[in-house]
Parts: sequence; structure tokens; C-alpha cells
Amino acid sequence: MRLILLGLPGAGKGTQAKVLSERLGLLHISTGDMFRQAAAAGTELGNRAQDYMSRGELVPDEVTIGMLLERIAQPDAGQGIMLDGFPRTIPQAEALDVALSERGSPIDAVLYIQVPESDLMTRLTGRWTCPQCGAIYHVQASPPQTAGVCDNDQTQLTQRADDQPDTVKARLETNREWTEQLASYYGNASKLHAIDGTGDPAGITARLTSAIESVSAAG
Ligand code: AMP
Repeated sequence: MRLILLGLPGAGKGTQAKVLSERLGLLHISTGDMFRQAAAAGTELGNRAQDYMSRGELVPDEVTIGMLLERIAQPDAGQGIMLDGFPRTIPQAEALDVALSERGSPIDAVLYIQVPESDLMTRLTGRWTCPQCGAIYHVQASPPQTAGVCDNDQTQLTQRADDQPDTVKARLETNREWTEQLASYYGNASKLHAIDGTGDPAGITARLTSAIESVSAAG
């Protein structure tokens, strides 16, 4: 299957993509993670992306599309993919459609995780991540056993520059408009499934799973 998780920042795409991709045997592709890894490695792509990320802006399409298309052309993407954070613009969605239909393997479903924006501010500004293993914690919802330290490897947790309040506001502004554009793009293609993203993560996983099962049964 080829699935897309759509939603504003903080809607839970990353958390759900990790659980679901493992359960369904899909390759989890997060363009945000790819950019952060490239930035940490100090590559040319990473340095370029870092400027945009730290301002809460989108990395330009020509950079993002090239990186994503290269990734999905690799053999391990043949097992099926779960895209998290891509596409974020209509040109990205169009480029993805062209690349996948050339291979006869179009997107099966777009799962739109919906959360009220007031909840997103609270969620995003309390998020801390482990720079070593990528584990995600939240000061209220899922704190680590010891404050500020990763449960898995005892590494000091860090707050992403783009999870700080001023940047979060800017990210929500930028994201709102084209998240809606993408929702109507995939709605017109009859691929959109709206999922209630409030409540506990296990409940959200269950709602996503039943939507995926209904698509898979119909296909
Ligand atoms: P994320 O972890 O998905 O929230 O992504 C973090 C940052 O990476 C975003 O705020 C953007 O600056 C950049 N980014 C990730 N995915 C994309 C994309 N599909 N298009 C443009 N920029 C992206």
C-alpha cells in the first residue's frame, strides 16, 4: 500500500506513522526527519534546508521533490510506503502522482488527522525529542521517566528549534492554508479519509487502522 498521513504540525503524524508503518510492514518516510538528518550531517542539502526549518518555513519544492522522488525509487520502497510530512504543497502532490502512476502504483489513501488548533499549540510547545534515537516525549502527555533524559539511551533530550512558541505559530499559519488545499486535492480524487485526531494515541491508531482496512478491502 501507498499511504499519506496529512495533518497540521503536531496532529500526531510522526507518532502514528511509526506505529502503523511497523504494523503494516510499510516504509516510513518523513521528509522532516530526512532534512534534520541531512542538517545534522552537515551536507549541502542539510545546510540549505536548515535555514528554512529554523524559520518555520517550507523548504523549496525543487529541493524537497527531488529528495523524496529519489527516496521512493529505492528498492526498500517496493514493500509499500507511508508518507509523513510529504506532500505539503500542490506541486509536490502532483509530482508524486506523476512518479507513482508512471510505475502503476498510485496512492491508495490519504489519512487526514484532524485536531483543533488550540490543542496543537499546547501539544507542540511541550514536545521534546531524543537526538540519538528519535524518541518523542511530551512534558504533559508522555513524559520520560527522568525529566529531560531519554528512557531508551539516557541521552539529554532536546527541543527542536521549530517547536519553540514563536516558530510554532508561524508553522501553523503557513501550514493551515495548504493543508486545506491538499485535503481538497485528494478529496477530489476520492482518496481522502478524515480521522479524529483527539484523545489517546491508541484510539487514534485504531481509527486509522479501520480506515486503512476499509480501503484495503475495497481495493
Ligand atoms: P516536520 O518534521 O514534518 O514538521 O518538518 C520539519 C520542517 O522540515 C518543516 O517545518 C519544513 O521546514 C521542512 N519540511 C519537511 N517536509 C517538507 C515538505 N514536504 N516540503 C517542504 N518543507 C518540508
